[in-house]
Amino acid sequence: MPELPEVETVRRGLAPAMEGARFVAVEARRADLRWPLPQQFAQRLVGAEVDRLRRRAKYLLADLASGETLIMHLGMSGSFRVLNGMDDEPQGDFHHARSKAVAHDHVVFRMSSGATVTFNDPRRFGSMLLVPTSELASHKLMRGIGPEPLDPVFDAAALARACAGKTTSLKAALLDQKVVAGLGNIYVCEALNRARLSPRREAATLATRSGAPTVAAKRLVAAIKAVLADAIAAGGSSLRDHRRTDGDLGNFQHSFRVYDRAGERCPTRSCPGTIRRIPQNGRSTFLCPVCQK
Ligand SMILES: [Zn+2]
Repeated sequence: MPELPEVETVRRGLAPAMEGARFVAVEARRADLRWPLPQQFAQRLVGAEVDRLRRRAKYLLADLASGETLIMHLGMSGSFRVLNGMDDEPQGDFHHARSKAVAHDHVVFRMSSGATVTFNDPRRFGSMLLVPTSELASHKLMRGIGPEPLDPVFDAAALARACAGKTTSLKAALLDQKVVAGLGNIYVCEALNRARLSPRREAATLATRSGAPTVAAKRLVAAIKAVLADAIAAGGSSLRDHRRTDGDLGNFQHSFRVYDRAGERCPTRSCPGTIRRIPQNGRSTFLCPVCQK
């Protein structure tokens, strides 16, 4: 499941093809993804110019000059690929990696930039919706989403406020999209190890009795911002080498400190601990029981 850095990497890959460009042709090869595609999907898009391609949590938002916003979500297995101009045959590894999956190319946008943008999604948990831009903030998918973790409004005070009085675990609180947007299992595990905080710790411990942020809250916010920035930077470097726009983070998975590293030595300096995998809320949590308190 793509998390915020992967979706942001996709956004940066799509922006040069889509921003400032019009939809010249739209081909929907099926009527539905996770949900039915919008009524008259192609007719509503063709001719419309993309003013801006934004990201909110794990959603890509293409604001159109027509007054609508195209909401796109990658689901579990969705990816985009961008081909430019005459270059209509994928090449090299890219070709071999994708050629078998043509049956899962469900939506194709031809843009006035000359780019062809294809959405591929084998498991079809992805989605595309069209909503009036003026109603976006109150849309059921958008309302209630918490602050963007890289936005300055997401600080230790905000996190402490969101967690004050919560008896759930820190892991569960960070996965709650109302507390902070866009985090999933991987980056929550990574941020908690960087901050040396146990995923099993009660979320309420991020706030003092008066509701002020604790030292732990400050460490955690800094860790969340740092791990996301590092992952996005790795994705940015992978974009220069590949035309693929599937959120590939280059070699960033080799930089994971704890995720999928059970049995390995904890990377925290001078920590003698070993990474463990524990079940938590039905999912795997990776942690170092020695330095994460
Ligand atoms: Zn450790």
